[in-house]
Amino acid sequence: MIKSYTELLEFDKNHIWHPYTSMTNPLPSYFVKSAEGCELMLADDTKLIDGMSSWWAVIHGYNHPTLNSALIDQSTKMSHVMFGGITHQSAIELSQRLVALTPPSLEKVFISDSGSVSVEVAIKMAIQYWHSLGKPSKSKLLTVKNGYHGDTFAAMGVCDPVNGMHTMFESVLAKNIFAPAPQTRFDEQWQANDIDELSELFATHHHNLAAFIIEPIVQGAGGMKIYHPEFLKACEQLCQRYNVLFIVDEIATGFGRTGKLFACEWANVVPDILCLGKAITGGYMSLAATLSTKKVAETISQGDAGCFMHGPTFMANPLACAVANASLSLLMENNWQHQVSKIEATLTSQLLPLKAHPRVLDTRVLGAIGVVEAKTPVNVANIQKRFVELGVWIRPFGKLIYIMPPFVISTEQLEKLIRAITIVLDEEGCFVN
Ligand SMILES: *Cc1c(COP(=O)(O)O)cnc(C)c1O
Repeated sequence: MIKSYTELLEFDKNHIWHPYTSMTNPLPSYFVKSAEGCELMLADDTKLIDGMSSWWAVIHGYNHPTLNSALIDQSTKMSHVMFGGITHQSAIELSQRLVALTPPSLEKVFISDSGSVSVEVAIKMAIQYWHSLGKPSKSKLLTVKNGYHGDTFAAMGVCDPVNGMHTMFESVLAKNIFAPAPQTRFDEQWQANDIDELSELFATHHHNLAAFIIEPIVQGAGGMKIYHPEFLKACEQLCQRYNVLFIVDEIATGFGRTGKLFACEWANVVPDILCLGKAITGGYMSLAATLSTKKVAETISQGDAGCFMHGPTFMANPLACAVANASLSLLMENNWQHQVSKIEATLTSQLLPLKAHPRVLDTRVLGAIGVVEAKTPVNVANIQKRFVELGVWIRPFGKLIYIMPPFVISTEQLEKLIRAITIVLDEEGCFVN
C-alpha cells in the first residue's frame, strides 16, 4: 500500500497526537524520510541542518555507522529480555560505565525507559528512603520555579506550576513547595541573597521534605535559563544542613552538553540521586538511568517493602543499553570537550551579539547551547516554515529561539543555523506582536 506523502500527512493530521499541539487545529508536521549526520531529509528531498539534536539527544549525528552496528550486533543476540531474575552483558557494561563516569559515591544504578520515568524513580526512591527510616512525614518535594522534569504525574508535580498548568491537575498533583527560580546569571557576580527564600523554605519545611530536585546550571524546557554555580552549591549545602535528599536532573545537561561531562561539575556538587537520559543513547533509543548512593539504596532495601517498588517491562532493554555503550565510547573517542568548545566559540562570537537586535531581549550561551530570547513570542507555524525554507531545523517555543546542535556539527553548518536565526529576527510574520 503505497500512499503519497500528502495522504500520509493527512492521516497524521487527523489521527496522531504530536507533542503539545492541538488535535483539531494542529501545528503543521514536516515529513522526515531519513536523516544523516547533522541533516534531516524531508519528503521532497529538502535537506535541513538540525539545530535541535532531536531535543538534546542526537549528539553524534544521525545514521552513525558505529551506533548502527551496535544495534545490529545486539539484535542478533537478543533485542529484549525481561530484567526480573535475568541480567545481561549490555546492562552490566552500561552500569559500569555510568558508575565510573559519575562521582564515586553514586554506586547504584536503576535503568529505565525514559527521562520522566527516571524522575519518577528518583522521587519514589526519596520517599521510600524516609519511610524506611521511620519518617514517613518526609514525603514532599522542594524545587525552584521555571523547572522542567518530565510529563508524568510525579515529574509534573515538580515542573514550574504556571508553565505546567498545575491548576488543571490540582486535585491529583502532589502538593510540593516552590522557591523562586535562580536569578544570578552564570556569567554575573554571585548575589548571595539569591538563595534567601530557598533557605527560608528549607528551614520552614524540612520536617516534611523528602528531597530537593533541580536541573543543574541550565533550566531547560522551563525557560532556557543559565544560572550561577554558587546557587547549585548552596542547594547542596542546604540539603546537607537540613537532612533533605539532593536530586539532580541531568537529563538535558548530561554527557558534555554544557562543556562539562555533567553540569554538576560546574559547582562541584554531588547529589544523592542523579537522573540521566536524552543523550545517553546518542539519541537512538529511549533510555534513562537513576543513580543513587549506597546509603539511599541500602536504606530503601531495609524498609518494610524490602525492595524498591518499581520495575518497568522494558527495564534495561538490551538494544538501548548496547547503543548507549557505543555512544559513550564515541563520546570519549571523539574528544567531546574539543567538539563542544568549538561550538561554544562560534555561538559566543556570532549568536551572543544578536542581543543588540531590537527584537531581542537577551542572548545566552553555555557549551553547545545557544539561546535567543525575543521580546515577544514567536508565531511557531510561521517561523518554522521560514526556518525550513532557509534549510534549517530549529523549533522555538514561547519567546525562545534556541539551538543545541549535534556535537559533530561543522562550523559552516552552525553558521548557517545562526544566519537563519538572524534572518527571521527581521521578519514581522515570525513573531506575535
Ligand atoms: C526531557 C527532560 C525530562 C523528561 O525526559 P523524557 O525522556 O522526555 O521523559 C526530564 N528532565 C529534564 C531536565 C528534561 O530535559
